[in-house]
Amino acid sequence: MIFLILTNLVLQKKEIDMDKRIELIKGDITKLEIEAIVNAANRQLKGGGGVDGAIHKAAGPIIHEECMRIIQKMGECPTGESCITSSGNMPSKYVIHTVGPIWRGGKMHEPELLTKSYRSALELAVEFGIKEIAFPNISTGIYSFPKETAADIALKETNDFLSENPKFKKVVFVCFDDENYDIYKKRINEE
Ligand code: ADP
Repeated sequence: MIFLILTNLVLQKKEIDMDKRIELIKGDITKLEIEAIVNAANRQLKGGGGVDGAIHKAAGPIIHEECMRIIQKMGECPTGESCITSSGNMPSKYVIHTVGPIWRGGKMHEPELLTKSYRSALELAVEFGIKEIAFPNISTGIYSFPKETAADIALKETNDFLSENPKFKKVVFVCFDDENYDIYKKRINEE
């Protein structure tokens, strides 16, 4: 019995071997001084509610114009994919707009699509020579993705990405609500 409990503890510990370049803060992502922040965008890159609205408001009209140029050129941004603009009046340099999935009960490939959102944002960052990036909790607001599962996906994908990209400096998770902050804190400090 004791052996089983110990094995279980060791396995649990191994499961969450978190990279030291992952940081957690509570607050408003629009205020962050960092190379790039990620936006939880919609497919039309239109700017909506939640973090998307806050980013468009803080940036000023420039990113809406850049987003509309992207849409004219490439069409809508598919779910799971990302595109990049400047940051307008915000202290960051770039905004990476990623389109997370809307939660429809879990049978519409939502976990895979959320994984893809994080991965595509991180890969786009690498393409642009970005080495530090901040994420909000994609899809966990208006798009209703269950927060615990979303945190597991975000942290696993980021952890995997960092182990493949030794030169990347840091990934900051910016939690706005207490619930997400507690969920991330538990996972990041569990190590
Ligand atoms: P989605 O449509 O992807 O669910 P939301 O913007 O509704 O996007 O929510 C995503 C997450 O962003 C939520 O956890 C919400 O609490 C958070 N959020 C809202 N405003 C901000 C902000 N200013 N900075 C950081 N996170 C924010």
